[in-house]
Amino acid sequence: MTTKTHFETRAIQATEPHEDQTGSVANAIYPSTTFKRETDGSYQSGFIYTRDDNPNRQLLEQALAELEGGSRAFAFASGMAAISAMLQTLQCGDHVILPDDAYYSVHAAAKEVFERWGLTHSLVDMTDLNAVRSAINEQTRLIWLESPSNPLLKVSDIRTVTQLAHQHNALCVVDNTWCTPVLQQPLALGADAVMYSTTKYFGGHSDCLSGALVLNPKAPEELTTRLKHIQKLSGAVPSPFDCWLITRGIKTLKLRLMQQTTNASQLAGFLDQHPAIDAVHYPGLTSHPQHAIAAAQMTHGFGAMMSVQYADKASSMALTGRLKLFTAATSLGGVESLIEHRKSVEGDASLTPDNLLRISVGIEHIDDLIADWTDALNG
Ligand SMILES: *Cc1c(COP(=O)(O)O)cnc(C)c1O
Repeated sequence: MTTKTHFETRAIQATEPHEDQTGSVANAIYPSTTFKRETDGSYQSGFIYTRDDNPNRQLLEQALAELEGGSRAFAFASGMAAISAMLQTLQCGDHVILPDDAYYSVHAAAKEVFERWGLTHSLVDMTDLNAVRSAINEQTRLIWLESPSNPLLKVSDIRTVTQLAHQHNALCVVDNTWCTPVLQQPLALGADAVMYSTTKYFGGHSDCLSGALVLNPKAPEELTTRLKHIQKLSGAVPSPFDCWLITRGIKTLKLRLMQQTTNASQLAGFLDQHPAIDAVHYPGLTSHPQHAIAAAQMTHGFGAMMSVQYADKASSMALTGRLKLFTAATSLGGVESLIEHRKSVEGDASLTPDNLLRISVGIEHIDDLIADWTDALNG
């Protein structure tokens, strides 16, 4: 048996073609929605209909489970479809704890969709364990974590929050989109599942919308069964082509993310020293309030996302126009650097500071990225 202990090696091995008769080294794409049935009614290939399963989705799900150390992965048509599937495993009357600082559509889905189906929720500062403790009630069945969080990069203690959840018969699920298994392994810290917008780092090229859930082998068996039903019956599955793109993305995930993380750490250091910048939110800075927790639970660095606060709303928006290498666009995790004035996307009700710019650092040369900021801040 060859050693497959390193992520880089496992990422290649787990995404190679399975039982391909052609000798093809790259994966084929199977767009077929349906599969041939034998006269006795059986399906020799094991595939019936693409909403139930498809060779490209199967390969992707097996690779995601393998890389995360999970028992099982479920791929979805978007990160939000993965989040909705997890919330749909709950029932009317259940209570969910969500981070006060989190991907904005998670709050919106809880309020605009799931409240009407009887799911209650509380928004809690997950860096404050006493606040988490006092938010738990008899009906709490799920604690949702996002660490580092969006857009303020707050870091929560995944192991301790998971223990709190388990003491109260609730699950803990971590949105690990900003880290991927390269930078953080929530299942090893006890979480029941991780959720991904694979649209971001897994895809890595801003050209594929998709999501996933990966389950801890120790998670309740019932969770797997429920998710299997929801994936198939709600029907928000990714296309074979999208599965193929994410499978391909996995092969270079670590290379890209390490370069992005190295760039981000240098850019954060530069911006932190710059007199015109009021604040830099990046867990790699020793001044970050939860730097020690981040250092203990993140591996290979602190990620490629950060937020900065600059002057006021109008000046910060104008600054995005002066940067040449950072495209002003929402989303993150692609090879190209992006910048976004977050509050104008989230809307007036959002608690995000008016002068906050969220940055997704790409794989460009760091000297060019820093020169771009120097020029933009001087201009
Ligand atoms: C983008 C994102 C999502 C939502 O994913 P979609 O693929 O856009 O549906 C959820 N969580 C985080 C942290 C994200 O960055």
